[in-house]
Amino acid sequence: MSKSAGVIALAGNPNVGKTCIFNALTGMRQKVGNWPGVTVEKKEGVFVIGDQEVMVVDLPGIYGLTPYSIDEKIARDFLIKEKPGAVVAVVDTTNLERNLYLVVELLELGANLVLDLNMIDRIEGQGIKINKEKLSQGLGGVPIVETAAHKGFGIEAMKQAVLEVLRRGRSGEFKIDYGLDAETVISELAEVLEDKALALGFSPRWTAIKLLEGDPEVQELVKQRGGEETLQMARQLAAALEKKLGSDPETFFAEHRYGFIRGLVRQAVTATEKDLVARLSLSDKLDRIFTSRVLGIPIFFLFMWLAFQLVFKLGAPLADGIDSFMGWLGTSASAWLGQVGAPEWVASLVSDGVIGGVGAVLVFLPNIMLLFLVLSFLEDTGYMARAAFVMDRIMHTFGLHGKSFIPMLLGFGCNVPAIMATRTLESEKDRVLTILVNPLMSCTARLPIYVLFTGAFFAERYRGTVVFSLYLLGIVLALLLAVLFKCILFKGAVAPFIMELPPYRLPSVKSLLLHMWERSRIFLVKAGTIIFAGVVLVWLLASLPVGVEYGSAESLVGRLGAVFAPLLKPAGFGEYQAAVALIFGILAKETVVGTLGTLYGVGREGLAGVLPQYFTPASAYAFMVMSLIYIPCLASIAVIKREAGWKWAAFAVSYSLVLGWLVAVIFYQVLSRLWT
Ligand code: GDP
Ligand code: MG
Repeated sequence: MSKSAGVIALAGNPNVGKTCIFNALTGMRQKVGNWPGVTVEKKEGVFVIGDQEVMVVDLPGIYGLTPYSIDEKIARDFLIKEKPGAVVAVVDTTNLERNLYLVVELLELGANLVLDLNMIDRIEGQGIKINKEKLSQGLGGVPIVETAAHKGFGIEAMKQAVLEVLRRGRSGEFKIDYGLDAETVISELAEVLEDKALALGFSPRWTAIKLLEGDPEVQELVKQRGGEETLQMARQLAAALEKKLGSDPETFFAEHRYGFIRGLVRQAVTATEKDLVARLSLSDKLDRIFTSRVLGIPIFFLFMWLAFQLVFKLGAPLADGIDSFMGWLGTSASAWLGQVGAPEWVASLVSDGVIGGVGAVLVFLPNIMLLFLVLSFLEDTGYMARAAFVMDRIMHTFGLHGKSFIPMLLGFGCNVPAIMATRTLESEKDRVLTILVNPLMSCTARLPIYVLFTGAFFAERYRGTVVFSLYLLGIVLALLLAVLFKCILFKGAVAPFIMELPPYRLPSVKSLLLHMWERSRIFLVKAGTIIFAGVVLVWLLASLPVGVEYGSAESLVGRLGAVFAPLLKPAGFGEYQAAVALIFGILAKETVVGTLGTLYGVGREGLAGVLPQYFTPASAYAFMVMSLIYIPCLASIAVIKREAGWKWAAFAVSYSLVLGWLVAVIFYQVLSRLWT
């Protein structure tokens, strides 16, 4: 008498050989009936292994877990409601990419899976090689068996594998990262589902995703449990998400799964030239160029360089426009204030302080918006994921996780959301490491400094390249430090992962503009708050004590700067104005330019003209280097503290200060000798 070890289901697309496998497993011990209520054939059978008996159910062929047809509904109902002890996902190995969609959905559902690469006989002689270890790793460690069902090959191994997963239950975790926008909504909804115990025996995450996808059955189940309110919330979240993503959530999630599979297949399957060329689609061809071992990285840098050219060439005339407007505004305001008899200090506060300081920052709005536009374009077309794929190899050499790449790229926009984006990294070590080096990615707040100084010291055709060199410097330093920190602070291997390759797409203008606006808005809000407060403070310190010449060495700010100035002398900018600008830059890096404008007493428009009195090209470059590296802005420090704790925030502040000073000094000492 054998003991029952459990029930397993065979799931797979139509025509992949499920019935063949079912027959090979169960032999004569079969029972054919109908699924309850419908005339779709249901086959059940048993096989015995050792003293264990396993019951097998052959499900109708399905492509995914979204119930569009009656077959899909049956199969899904069985998987979801009966919850078999294990599921054998049968795939046609010659059509792996397409077949893996269902596998991914099963894994997300939390099924205890054995992956069966069937029709393995047909890939022989086709030049296809499958790295089973990588494939399994990418799929959260599922056991994999190979079969040629019509010949009975691999059936014994499958029985063994099935028995093993039945015994030990599900091991390993599988999760696709849907990107910050979607992940935020998923966790919000999942939390509510968990609180109200509405996840109905599935993982809250799975239920949340299904609700966002608008899955009618899961909605119905939640409703039956009295989750009206949660459903309402899910609908609102889905609608908001749709607006943000520019596509409906169902399509979005599906595309991400396909993207994940593309990346996985690209990593785990190699095929010879002859076989590939015959079946290449346009996006395969593009992928072969963009993710090529040889060309991938040069292409990435070329794109980045082009992006910066675009940002500066297009941005310059727009910036000039705002510049003239702010200049006019400052003059008219002080003239008007004079006419209405306002005291001189009010006129000075308004025109020098507020309009001068905030204006100095606003001038860069066109550059910043263009940069965000380009970043959104690269993201939405799908290229960014290829860049991450290519960079993954490099990231690993530097001890960073491939997933760190996206936060690093986001850092070019603003380090605050970038640091928050590290939440997608599973390992705490990888996460802290990524957070620590993130401020070295040159955010848009530092752009005004580069634009001002390159404009004043470098010929027009070199400006783009100079700015690009600073971005590059940040990247190189981040990578080098990552290696260093990894060796000293975070020993251990980097967890493997799969880089998603979403389909290429021409993004809609609307969603591009929306993304650009969302990001630029943060900048504008900052200009209206922190930066505004910063410039008023600088103005105040520059005007006091009463009677002192505005911004002179005798003013409070002058004395403050004088304390630090000597330390900065080896870097070539030993005047108190530069020191003060850097100190206020900690509030927000945008205030550096505004502070300089205020301190040199020329407002914004005169800055470029007056800078050569205080800086040389070499010290200007060193100043930009310092601005790039030294101490993250207050908002970044706060978010590092929140994400990694006080200790790491303090560490980030101190290492960056020392590093910034060191590198600035080195650059000044070398460049001042080269450029004379
Ligand atoms: P189902 O729709 O998934 O149940 O697929 P079937 O079991 O009906 O098989 C579909 C076709 O694929 C049949 O003609 C089988 O003979 C064939 N087939 C199944 N497994 C294999 C295999 O491993 N290798 C090859 N070459 N053919 C197979
Ligand atoms: Mg069949």
